[in-house]
Amino acid sequence: MKKPSMEVKRRLLFFLAMVTFGIFGLIVRIGYLQIIQGDELKAKAWDQQTRDRLIAPTRGTIYDRNGVPLAQNASVATVSVIHNQIQNKEEVITALSSTLGLEPEDVRKKVDRIVALERIQSRVDKEIADELRRKNIPGIIIDEDSKRYYPNRNLASHILGFVGKDNQGIIGLEVKYDEYLKGIPGKILTEADAKGRDIPGGLQQRIEPMAGNHLVTTLDIVVQQYAEQALEKVLRAKEAKKGSIIILNPQTGAILAMANKPDFDLNEPFTIQDPLLQSQWSQLSQEDKTKALNQMWRNFSINDTYEPGSTFKIITSTAGLEEKVVSLSHSFYCPGYRIVADRRIRCHKAGGHGSQTFVEGVRNSCNPVFMDTAEKLGAETFYKYLKLFGLHEKTGIDVPGEAVGIMHNIKNVGPVELATMSFGQSFQVTPLQLIRSGAAIVNGGYLITPHFGSKIISEEGLVLKNLESTKRQQIISTETSDIMREILESVVSEGTGHRTYLPGYKIGGKTATSEKLPRSNRKYIASFLGFAPADSPEVMALVLIDEPVGIYYGGTVAAPVIKEVFENILPYLGIEPKYSEQELTLTGIGDVEIPNFLEQPLSEVKKTIRTLGLTLEVLGEGTVVKEQFPLAGERVNQGTKFIIYVEPEG
Ligand SMILES: [Zn+2]
Repeated sequence: MKKPSMEVKRRLLFFLAMVTFGIFGLIVRIGYLQIIQGDELKAKAWDQQTRDRLIAPTRGTIYDRNGVPLAQNASVATVSVIHNQIQNKEEVITALSSTLGLEPEDVRKKVDRIVALERIQSRVDKEIADELRRKNIPGIIIDEDSKRYYPNRNLASHILGFVGKDNQGIIGLEVKYDEYLKGIPGKILTEADAKGRDIPGGLQQRIEPMAGNHLVTTLDIVVQQYAEQALEKVLRAKEAKKGSIIILNPQTGAILAMANKPDFDLNEPFTIQDPLLQSQWSQLSQEDKTKALNQMWRNFSINDTYEPGSTFKIITSTAGLEEKVVSLSHSFYCPGYRIVADRRIRCHKAGGHGSQTFVEGVRNSCNPVFMDTAEKLGAETFYKYLKLFGLHEKTGIDVPGEAVGIMHNIKNVGPVELATMSFGQSFQVTPLQLIRSGAAIVNGGYLITPHFGSKIISEEGLVLKNLESTKRQQIISTETSDIMREILESVVSEGTGHRTYLPGYKIGGKTATSEKLPRSNRKYIASFLGFAPADSPEVMALVLIDEPVGIYYGGTVAAPVIKEVFENILPYLGIEPKYSEQELTLTGIGDVEIPNFLEQPLSEVKKTIRTLGLTLEVLGEGTVVKEQFPLAGERVNQGTKFIIYVEPEG
């Protein structure tokens, strides 16, 4: 027989020691006091004959795809007192109240409690804890701990989520990946006598905590910042209620950025941000407070549905082409409406678009073209595509609380329902479901799973688990996808999406202006779904502006947001501009800086705009400028259309 090696011997010895310790532990009835839990355990603690203190593990870091920390830890401490070790009670009370900034009377109540271990305060800053440690007062004990810290505060707040007092994830990625991030607590076991006093020379053992693993996400902090800035800017300019933006890689489903505004500070997640609610906060019931906080934490892009409107037309188009019920040159006629059953359903252009091909119909976003296409498809085939595009199911994104589309039961779909659905009305989807469908339309026909998780890594950077989903299901032909990309590029170069046009880049997209329910309120969601480069998309973005004041068209309000984001992120992502011959000969690319025309008289604006070489579109009635697009300070090309909204003076 082979002689056991030193290593084996050492292990055996260790094993024996552990068993001995275990038995001993049983004899003295090792109790277990979970100091990070609440008061209910404290009463029981007195019965215990050993005192265990948990050592909180360090929670894993959440990184963006380039290793920039999005959620990390700060060193803090938990300060407690052990009643039976206190020698000078007044000294303890004075030291604790002065160092921690607590009321002496509150400290006294805790110090007087006859329990083995009483927690005075947790999450104490390291410097303060060190100061207390230096005083070295018998009875006061200080345990190291860590606190979650979000270096970018509001950035991606709805996505990252935050943790509770016990460092457990509450919403977002913090809860989804909690099992990997949380780690395993350690313990300090101290043998104590029946009165909770340390037994001199008694057994003490420290079991080290195991730190959590790290999560690497697909988020890109630079893209996220550009997206949030652009969104905030438009919300402010349009006095809109809220807004959302999603940017993903349509080939893989990796989400580069997602934001909803208003948002909240991850380091103060229980502080309400809405100024009105803030002023009423102390008068609100607990139930109302909880409701308001939940509302603030909602990720509208995922947790809520909306009526998509015209962006949905890309799905009707794709189904029509794939089923070959329409062709590119197929001719349609729009008199400004269609009579369906007993209903007259309008096109957005009251006078009608007249004769047009299918491609022109998409560019014009002409409702009758889509009503005709859906009629040719029939309800059953139309529903087959809703299903194929994943609109009946959750996308499977890796954050909790995903909502799913609300559709008519197919049994109830008559000609009117089919007609309204064809252009994106009378049903709801989540913004995420819509962008996922859009990705399949432009990526060659594959349904992808949108996701944030990239991989779980160890402290040493070892990949422990790959989270990227490789599942890609082909739902439409590559040929149809190729055609759709071209059509959607022409929407930007020649149609309703022209405000996303960016010299040097091929961009495709579709605008939408959805009227919110009830329609009598005349409130809108302006949106734009765009992708680039149009011939081989690497990014796709969806932006929603909820209840813009004044001009509310998707093409006017939402399209420029995507333009601004793409202008910044495409070069950053290494997608170089390729100028066409025409663009190169065009002088004045990005040459004109837009002045501020707000509250200026219309006559002045007309003069200035002419000298700047821009074309002017005036909306509204009156002589004073109340709104302008692009906003002041933006740089545009000569020949760009400049839009103002005017009102009467005074
Ligand atoms: Zn029309």
